[in-house]
Amino acid sequence: MKQPGILVLNAGSSSIKFLFFVEQNDDLAPVLRGQVEGLHTAPHFIARDGAGRVVDEKRWGEGTALGHQGAVAHLAAFLRAEGSNYALHAVGHRVVHGGMDHVQPERVTPDLLRSLERLVPLAPLHQPHNLAPIRLLLEHQPDLPQVACFDTAFHATNEDVARRFAIPSDLHDAGVRRYGFHGLSYEYVSAALPAHDPAAAAGKVVACHLGNGVSMCAIDGGRSVANTMGFTAVEGLPMGTRSGSLDPGVLLYLMDERKMDARAIEKLLYSQSGLLGMSGISSDMRNLLESDDPRARTAVDVFVYRIRRELGSLAAAMGGLDALVFTAGIGENSAAIRERVCRDAAWLGIELDAKANAAGGPRISTAASRTAAWVIPTNEELMIARHTRRVVEGRD
Ligand code: ADP
Repeated sequence: MKQPGILVLNAGSSSIKFLFFVEQNDDLAPVLRGQVEGLHTAPHFIARDGAGRVVDEKRWGEGTALGHQGAVAHLAAFLRAEGSNYALHAVGHRVVHGGMDHVQPERVTPDLLRSLERLVPLAPLHQPHNLAPIRLLLEHQPDLPQVACFDTAFHATNEDVARRFAIPSDLHDAGVRRYGFHGLSYEYVSAALPAHDPAAAAGKVVACHLGNGVSMCAIDGGRSVANTMGFTAVEGLPMGTRSGSLDPGVLLYLMDERKMDARAIEKLLYSQSGLLGMSGISSDMRNLLESDDPRARTAVDVFVYRIRRELGSLAAAMGGLDALVFTAGIGENSAAIRERVCRDAAWLGIELDAKANAAGGPRISTAASRTAAWVIPTNEELMIARHTRRVVEGRD
């Protein structure tokens, strides 16, 4: 008999990443993972089993435009194929924006899809791609349960004062407000922290999601209080290719003096800035840390400096700090960046355990440290799978 499971999809502009989870020890464990990448150029499908062995692979050749439709169809056929040990029970989707109305994971309906489509202008680079597989599955397999999980939802607990921009309130009422992102990552980290540090998990935590996208979140008693991303996922810290916060006057200058229009500014802020823009070398932190080029050093210095300042701001928002948590590609893997951030945070009571940090944690502060520091690998897909199971089966 085929084992039923949950497919988790994370659809971007040029790739769809997937994981397939089955029940294991009352939680969910991934038994297949892979992606279809190069959707519009040279599509490539690859699937691996839980041990990382390639179980299926296909290439479509240069110039083939498979698109989201072709990719979803191929993935569905792969899961249905004879010889597959698994049966598709439900699909969970990562959706970047839930807007004001969608503050927890929801079962997909045509009404929900229409509502999420209205949010495309708030996340034009992500939302349309997130929604493409939802629409296709709704059309072709209307009886297959689907659940949308939002990157904004975890921050629904932020108070109004943390959400407001100081602009006329009719704009706030129309949705021009701070939402916050990386919520599925922060939710996972919050759920994992009690097993490591129950006291801190019940107290005041700043979590640092340092990946290609970079943000930090103040979490008090497991609830998001404030975060560095706002109306869009470009606010806050410098990222791989995104600028993070700028003086809004810079945008006016670019429009007036450089005659840049919205698309040109979007390209600058999302694709040509951040670590890549500052260094002129790479968006990849590994390359910058290995480089002797002074521009690479500047990029890393600015990255660490901005984290230092945001940490102070987020600790101030909570009125204290019990633990600092690092996650995502840089946070999980770069002892050098963690060390610099922790040393800068000595005034907040963090005493780094250099040996533990070099070993990757999980605890990287000394036993005597007044404030703890942890490395907790994130797992947004597992969070989505758990939400999907709960929504579909009505579990707690
Ligand atoms: P995404 O946000 O796309 O999920 P990741 O969480 O995978 O990204 O993070 C990607 C970032 O992590 C890149 O900047 C990469 O350089 C960085 N990274 C991965 N491994 C290391 C490492 N050993 N040292 C420093 N940075 C690393």
